[in-house]
Amino acid sequence: MLQNIRVVLVNTSHPGNIGGAARAMKNMGLSRLVLVQPKDFPADEASARASGADDILANAQVVDSLEDALVGCSLVMGTSARERSIPWPLIDPRECAVKAVEHSKAGESIALVFGREHAGLTNDELQRCHFHVHIPSNPDFSSLNLAAAVQVLAYEVRMAWLGAEGGALSIEKADAGATRGNELATMDEMELFYEHLEKTLVDIGFLDPAKPKHLMPRLRRLYGRSSVERTEISILRGILTETQKVVRGEPHKRKD
Ligand code: SAH
Repeated sequence: MLQNIRVVLVNTSHPGNIGGAARAMKNMGLSRLVLVQPKDFPADEASARASGADDILANAQVVDSLEDALVGCSLVMGTSARERSIPWPLIDPRECAVKAVEHSKAGESIALVFGREHAGLTNDELQRCHFHVHIPSNPDFSSLNLAAAVQVLAYEVRMAWLGAEGGALSIEKADAGATRGNELATMDEMELFYEHLEKTLVDIGFLDPAKPKHLMPRLRRLYGRSSVERTEISILRGILTETQKVVRGEPHKRKD
């Protein structure tokens, strides 16, 4: 069940941190590691720090973009050591772990995303996440080592999983957001929707590409917290398609 939970490391500089993260994951029973453009990987230092979790490194998937790393996921939680310009739904590692285990039990794929050692995740990357996770550290010294941050989340996931196994959490698919029998839209489906939405908003003159302000991030935040189902995305895309037809003066569904 923990196999549905992937750990995504974005642009990691130090291979030692990749190894440390792999070890932290294996200790806690997580196995799926995805690396977005690591600076130096594979590397001896990564294997040395993994000390026995080499299988996680050997099976790690290396991809070119965060978008590629999130394919198939319906819940994405991004970690951040500090406050960002647009406030996003913010949770702590414990809440994050409970959500991850709930969704995983419902058969959904989940990503836990970690940023660069020096700069964390960009605002754009954070806006691709449904929730932001902050480890409540000392505000005067808030940034943990990357592998240490992975360890904290992996431990909480294990605790939530053990609790669920012991029946402490009674988890139904409905609790994971989707109504019974309906699947949540995945990140790749949501990205296609956002592209379609942005284009339509430009076409109808609601969004000025020269002055986008924070419209798209705000809309991402809105849809991101709505647990949108696959069937609902089809409806929304259908509305956008008809809207575009009206704008272009093409034949559309409205009769009059
Ligand atoms: N200087 C960076 C910190 C990067 S630390 C910044 O100011 O954003 C590297 C990564 O470890 C972060 O991107 C995040 O994924 C994780 N991390 C470190 N401290 C964290 C904290 N207190 N809460 C959540 N994630 C944290």
